[in-house]
Amino acid sequence: MKMEFLQILRKSATSPQNRRRVSSISPNRLFSSHQIHSHPPPPPYPASFGIAFDIDGVILRGDTPIGGSPQALKRLYDDSGTLRIPYVFLTNGGGVPESKRAMELSKLLSIHISPSQVIQGHSPFKQLAKRFENELIIAVGKGEPVSVMSEYGFKNVLSIDEYASYFEHIDPLRHYKNWMNQQAGCENSSSREMAMRNDPCSQRVQAVFIVSDSVDWSRDIQAFLYLNIVLCDILSTGGLPGRKISSQPPLYFASDDLSYQGLFPTERLGMGAFRIALESIYNRMYPNVLEYTSYGKPNPSVFRNAENALVQVVPSSMNHCINGQYPFKTLYMIGDNPSVDIRGAKQAGHPWFSILTRSGVFKGKENHTIYAADLVVDTVEEAMDYILRKETCQSGRST
Ligand SMILES: [Mg+2]
Repeated sequence: MKMEFLQILRKSATSPQNRRRVSSISPNRLFSSHQIHSHPPPPPYPASFGIAFDIDGVILRGDTPIGGSPQALKRLYDDSGTLRIPYVFLTNGGGVPESKRAMELSKLLSIHISPSQVIQGHSPFKQLAKRFENELIIAVGKGEPVSVMSEYGFKNVLSIDEYASYFEHIDPLRHYKNWMNQQAGCENSSSREMAMRNDPCSQRVQAVFIVSDSVDWSRDIQAFLYLNIVLCDILSTGGLPGRKISSQPPLYFASDDLSYQGLFPTERLGMGAFRIALESIYNRMYPNVLEYTSYGKPNPSVFRNAENALVQVVPSSMNHCINGQYPFKTLYMIGDNPSVDIRGAKQAGHPWFSILTRSGVFKGKENHTIYAADLVVDTVEEAMDYILRKETCQSGRST
């Protein structure tokens, strides 16, 4: 019912009247800090726009706020700390449940952020929980991939660390990896109890989920030197390592970013790089090509999910103004990665408006040549200046 409701609302938003309003925005504008002199007053109610923020390279670098992000986000709340403009975080990152990430972000940015405002690369996996509810699935990646999948409703999930531990000699390099020996005593006790009851060695793995960045490529891809490699074994044998080659169980990636901006001065390899490595090795070693599904930006479905989430976080003070109408004339995507954030927003089309910051992956003086944004700014704070100024003017109120 909720999806039907959203579709009806979306039809309303694509009316000629609304299209005309969006088409009046000048495309590919460049915006520099010297053009901004002061903060405009708060926009009037109801806000007919929403905002999706990328996190890495826009809001944070590592755990450090950048680009004036705390001040920029505070402008979306009133003096009492109540949300007045709907916004979400739309990141390809992840590795912890949305509830935990919301708490972490709240602490780092000194504002209240609810779990419904956090959309991570793996959030769409929730939609597959019914299909694999009681099936054995493997969760790969840094952080707490098992907690993430359990919170989504998957009941028979093992981390790849734990799954690999049931197969002797599956990783010939294990003894050289000091961090793995330290981890051995700290594994999730509930998933280990579940594993002991169900004997994962005799169960067929029904799906593999790459939840976050792989910590141990050489084991997870099943290193290029040896044949007994974990992921290739699972995938090439239909889910039973050591058995003959069979059909491949479904493989899902939370995102396909080739790189991202972390604390190190230059970009770091992301999940897309891991996917390329796995795919090329797998296709070299086995007769069938690797089949997989990638979520995350720039996948247009992710932007549709973000619209849905933004409708859900519309402040209650706006509800009487919406009156059954689609609430947004413009949705802003603020990101630092042209091939992910800007490409995704452009593919999603109306009502998305893309803003590229120079605070992360993109550092060019002009617009990106392939995925040109609707606006280019230095920081998220400048992006917020532009949005609030424009929305205030469009509402007919004086500044
Ligand atoms: Mg980013």
